Amino acid sequence: MFNEPTVTEVFLLDLVEVFPGKVSIIPFNPKAESQIGADWAWAFVGPDGRSCQALLVQAKRLDNHDREYSELYYQGKPSGSTYSVLQSDRLIASAKRYRLPPVYAFYNHLNDPSRIPRSSCGTLDLIQSSLPESWGVAVASAINVRKAKPNKTYDCHRHHSRPLHCVLCSRGTGQQFAMGSADAAAAALSTLFEGTSEDDGLGPDLMPPFEPATELPELFQYAEHIEQARAKGNTDLLSENRNEFPGIAGAVILRDPEDA
Ligand SMILES: [Zn+2]
Repeated sequence: MFNEPTVTEVFLLDLVEVFPGKVSIIPFNPKAESQIGADWAWAFVGPDGRSCQALLVQAKRLDNHDREYSELYYQGKPSGSTYSVLQSDRLIASAKRYRLPPVYAFYNHLNDPSRIPRSSCGTLDLIQSSLPESWGVAVASAINVRKAKPNKTYDCHRHHSRPLHCVLCSRGTGQQFAMGSADAAAAALSTLFEGTSEDDGLGPDLMPPFEPATELPELFQYAEHIEQARAKGNTDLLSENRNEFPGIAGAVILRDPEDA
């Protein structure tokens, strides 16, 4: 019965507890936190402290009948705008603007585990289960989601979704990537965006295969700046008017432990 912001909050708090490195959660303004379908920028930073794979995430919740993501192609007015835009179009437009691969995070709560696709993830194959819990949050490329428009059903979108854990899993090899989470996330995004072509209009920067950047993109440097100011008690930077990245609710930065 929870809405997306609540699920996101609970999920992020859990993540802070279990992630072996450091997790920073930086809302860009207080109002954005409660916006339904707000876009968050995520960055996975490797053990060298610089290598980074970033992405843009919009959460969508499965309805209470386990049938569809009812607000998937929701038409809404962005703040300060007088016309409506489709959220899926807005997510992709923001992704191009900030050069971050656009991803949906689907919040699922299926009562019938047989509706969970057979895993193609080497890790879950090892335990011979699709591990229903792993589908609590699934991720999908916004390009694949847009191609399925206007179909909003779980049964359609599960085909191009992967469990969230696969963003960082080793596919059953047990091996760590050289650049840790940054490499793992880049490999996972490359799988999610497989088949994306120039015709999809994301631009050359966002074509698979993805490679980690060698430094944090500007948006995350801005987020770190806000975080430092907030730590010093300066909350002025958090007002909506000061947001230099309109349309982005905030940033999540996950840093691997240095010696991982
Ligand atoms: Zn996996």
